[in-house]
Amino acid sequence: MKATVYHGTGDVRVDTVPEPKMTAPTDAIVRVVNAAICGSDLWFYRGQSVSWKPGDRTGHEFLGIIEETGSGVTGFRKGQMVAAPFSFSDGSCDYCVDDALYTSCRHGGFWGGDDNDGGQGQFVRVPFADATLVEIPESIAHDATKRTSALALTDVMGTGHHGNVRAGTTAGSTVAIIGDGAVGLCGVLSAAYLGAERIIAIGHHADRLAIAKKFGATDIIDSKDPDAAAKILDMTNGGVKHVVEAVGSQATIDFGVSIARPGGNVAYVGIPVGVEKLDVRRMFGSNISVGGALAPVRRYLPEFMAAVGSGKLDPSPVFNLRLPLEGAPEGYAAMDARKAIKVVLEISAP
Ligand SMILES: [Zn+2]
Repeated sequence: MKATVYHGTGDVRVDTVPEPKMTAPTDAIVRVVNAAICGSDLWFYRGQSVSWKPGDRTGHEFLGIIEETGSGVTGFRKGQMVAAPFSFSDGSCDYCVDDALYTSCRHGGFWGGDDNDGGQGQFVRVPFADATLVEIPESIAHDATKRTSALALTDVMGTGHHGNVRAGTTAGSTVAIIGDGAVGLCGVLSAAYLGAERIIAIGHHADRLAIAKKFGATDIIDSKDPDAAAKILDMTNGGVKHVVEAVGSQATIDFGVSIARPGGNVAYVGIPVGVEKLDVRRMFGSNISVGGALAPVRRYLPEFMAAVGSGKLDPSPVFNLRLPLEGAPEGYAAMDARKAIKVVLEISAP
């Protein structure tokens, strides 16, 4: 089968790799219909993630059709369309059961690398299929826009939402979202979904900030403006209670802490890269909490799948380039050059 493989910095190729085989009765094999390229894939693409080795498989956002199920799989059958969160989990260990913290599952793991299939390929072996996968109803499966929205639920929508959950956003909240990538934009959409009253989007790409507006941002702040933090403190009379940091850099996490109001919460959902310090003095003095937020997106998938089906939630505008699987290298390059916000790979027929 064909799948994308990491070969080195700036070098992702579509190679022929072995077809997956089930290794446990709880496995399923999924034929991938659509996969996405994630902003976090750019870390290894740019050589900024030390753990990646040539030969590693890529992609952690996909949906597809069940091709085969193990004897222990009871919830799915061949032919059903399903979405997978970016990590798999058993759904039964204490972290899964006690806190729905599926990303910390004692027996779970992440797609791609050297030990699991990546989502950007024709087939994927899914461990713990019953606990990991979520069914995509017919009404979404055969509607291209809704299916694209469902693809966003596999990571970016759940990730942006988890930032709001960790930051404590509720109806009526004032929220700041730092970053105008797909996760930041989904953070805006999630804040609106939760009923936030004021949503401040911070970024510097006009096309992306236009989507932020469409998603419900009430205020736009240019992140390149040296007075950006002062402006936010001023317009909010002292800072923002709920801050979602959706980039993962030292500068953006510092910015998040600097605009939090006393008693505020900063949730960081971007994978931190090169972040070495935190302003604990300011956090102490102003009772500001800073929380890591690797999103257990499996937790949100059923609710969001229903919301996509009913038309209440439409994150599909974060995707603005569609390519066949063979176009994956072009997709990575387009996202790296900021020519595309997010790429959909069309891998097989729905
Ligand atoms: Zn678990």
